[in-house]
Amino acid sequence: MKLSFLGGASTVTGSKTLLESASGDQILVDCGLFQGLKNLRLKNRADLEFDPKKLTAILLTHAHLDHSGYIPLIVKKGFKGPIYCTKATYELCKILLADSGYLQEEEAKYANLKGFTKHHPAEPLYTQEDAKNSLKYFKVIKDHKVFDIAPNINACFYNAGHILGSSFIKITIDHKTVIFSGDLGRPHDLVMNPPDPLPKCDYLILESTYGDREHPKTDAITEIKAIVQQAIDKKSVVIVPAFAVGRAQTLLYVFSEIKKDPAFKNIPVYLNSPMATKVTELYCENSKEHKLSAEQCEAVFGSANYVQSVEESIALNSKNGPMIIISASGMATGGRVLHHLKQFMPDPNNFILFSGYQAPGTRGETIVSGKDKVKIHGQYHSVKSQVIQLDTLSAHADANEMIEWLKTTKAKPQNIFINHGEAKASDELRKQIKEQLEWDAYIPLLGETKEL
Ligand SMILES: [Zn+2]
Repeated sequence: MKLSFLGGASTVTGSKTLLESASGDQILVDCGLFQGLKNLRLKNRADLEFDPKKLTAILLTHAHLDHSGYIPLIVKKGFKGPIYCTKATYELCKILLADSGYLQEEEAKYANLKGFTKHHPAEPLYTQEDAKNSLKYFKVIKDHKVFDIAPNINACFYNAGHILGSSFIKITIDHKTVIFSGDLGRPHDLVMNPPDPLPKCDYLILESTYGDREHPKTDAITEIKAIVQQAIDKKSVVIVPAFAVGRAQTLLYVFSEIKKDPAFKNIPVYLNSPMATKVTELYCENSKEHKLSAEQCEAVFGSANYVQSVEESIALNSKNGPMIIISASGMATGGRVLHHLKQFMPDPNNFILFSGYQAPGTRGETIVSGKDKVKIHGQYHSVKSQVIQLDTLSAHADANEMIEWLKTTKAKPQNIFINHGEAKASDELRKQIKEQLEWDAYIPLLGETKEL
């Protein structure tokens, strides 16, 4: 069999790994968009390294766009096979892919209107209609159930504990087992259940987003509460750019815990992302798939104000602090959060609280790196607010948590391939695995194929 690393190698975005059996069946695991640096984003517009019409199936570890966002495009390019995933991943993809198509249409429209495009005219990668059209290929799979993909190929999904519906996937192919970790969650997440133990396998493809880091041992609620205290004292606005899926819900949980303290109960928390609102409803409907019961969901998610219309969103910009605005996107690459950043970022009294990983090349990374101005909608805006990067809420296992997870397997895999990380993170994880477990691991380059 052959493994080709076509995305999510030497980077955390664009996840696509192609597995080819001796008899020529081709399985694509994840089908993500490249995000961040321009030379990466341009890859979304390049030709694929394989013929989508010849793919046997696509398997999705989870709904985040860097793992699923290329699906409407691959369908547009002629893929007509099944896309296997869990029920919650399917439900999330319905929301996320349509939104991604919509955002791309809007961005292209806006770029054409304002004339800040180098492409004439700017074209969306795919439209909302393309996204909706791709949904008919989805096939929902239950966790822990082995299902057939082709003669001699079957697969099984396990809980990865990263976001709602997230999985790691075991594929049995040519009498060998290959496991794709997808994005791996943490053993003690506030909302998600811990990942399932790692089954015995021959080959493991392991993510390394935080392979060079140890997450702080401090408690997220205490850390964020201290910031909210300052915001109350100074009547500040706290802007929290957040991923609509997973992070926004964890933040709602954190703020609802903080608001249990009578001194904090009056600070308004706004969730200004219609998509995050829909996703929050999905978390409530799927309460068996995470730690919060149906009653807890109601209490947690009932403690915030949900901003829906564009008018309400604009009106938020004229409100005074103290208040907390959670808004997408998480890396400030688009979405309503940009309008709040433009409005509140020039005031040194305010806070910008980044709650997740900021990929190189994103606006979020520019702000976190300490630049005093940042370009939004074609114009520079000054950054004077206090910028805080929180690592305590990470939905990815750090190096030690990853090694603890590896220890749950009964036998050393024959080969480990480390992907989904910046070069330094992947190599640091490789070293840690060697030092602590005495296992060798290999870091494939983007575009590399390995014969197994
Ligand atoms: Zn993810």
